[in-house]
Amino acid sequence: MDFLRPATWADALAAKAERPGALPLQGGTDVMVEINFDVHRPEALLDLTRVRELAGWDTVDGDTGGGRLRVGAGVTYTRLIEELGGRLPGLAQASRTVGSPQIRNRGTAGGNLGAASPAGDAHPPLLAGGAEVEAESAARGVRMIPAADFFTGVKRNALEPDELIRAFWTPPASGPQYFSKIGTRNAMVIAVCSFAVALHPGERRVGTGLGSAAPTPRRAAAAEEFASAELDWDGRGPLGEAAARRFGELAAEAASPIDDVRGTGDYRRHALAVLARRTLTWAWNDHRNAGRRAS
Ligand SMILES: Cc1cc2nc3c(=O)[nH]c(=O)nc-3n(C[C@H](O)[C@H](O)[C@H](O)COP(=O)(O)OP(=O)(O)OC[C@H]3O[C@@H](n4cnc5c(N)ncnc54)[C@H](O)[C@@H]3O)c2cc1C
Repeated sequence: MDFLRPATWADALAAKAERPGALPLQGGTDVMVEINFDVHRPEALLDLTRVRELAGWDTVDGDTGGGRLRVGAGVTYTRLIEELGGRLPGLAQASRTVGSPQIRNRGTAGGNLGAASPAGDAHPPLLAGGAEVEAESAARGVRMIPAADFFTGVKRNALEPDELIRAFWTPPASGPQYFSKIGTRNAMVIAVCSFAVALHPGERRVGTGLGSAAPTPRRAAAAEEFASAELDWDGRGPLGEAAARRFGELAAEAASPIDDVRGTGDYRRHALAVLARRTLTWAWNDHRNAGRRAS
């Protein structure tokens, strides 16, 4: 197996164009497990760890950026938590549940997107926050793919064989965000199901993302529409019990879960309804309390 080690982004794109079968390697926490277990044997590994452009993040202003964060594919979970936890609280919460400190020190949200597992923990908060994936190829340049269009099937994504993920773009939180995950224990666990919610008060909108409950991570569109219309954005009145429950039901209806060793489809639907109800309640209460403190 060849081992390609580009030192720059341009070299990485050129290598991927020349060898589309080369498997990108970021933290290696998915790739090395699959190689060790002989799940597949790629013709070459494309090691991206020396590509400095992938290891940074910044805020992009102007027409293109609009104040959004552009986070390089090589930024680890540990750095997402430490450096961006205040701006991306939902993603930071999800990152804290990934694996163990060792996995969080190596693993990246870029790698999570590349693997495109339905259970990837970074995906629900990226969906709820309205993220886009910046993909690039040497031949066609950059294209931006909304997170909602990025996941195309179980462990499949929208990347072409000559494309690499450069970064994800997402607005910093403009309201409370929460992520919640069910597992059989508190750490080192693949989600039985997970749910993320993000309030966008400026747009009077609720964003959602659900994980491990369908062939791909996905948004719960009907639940978003319901909550966006139901919440008292002007008066910041309380979220009624019936509305919270309805939101949970609609979130569960967006799922199409399977029965597997981690849980049954019925359990996943039930758990999602509970997670959605709780996370919306927490987020809305935070929003109300922030309003009280400000007045
Ligand atoms: C013990 C253990 C516990 C884990 N726990 C969790 C968990 O709790 N939650 C969770 O979501 N995941 C978990 N994982 C899986 C893994 O850590 C994550 O999916 C992580 O985000 C992968 O990131 P990475 O940088 O290590 O990716 P890599 O393993 O380097 O790559 C993953 C995939 O993305 C592709 N890729 C990487 N970079 C790019 C790029 N720039 N462009 C295009 N494709 C790219 C690779 O080719 C590969 O297909 C766990 C893994 C282990 C071993």
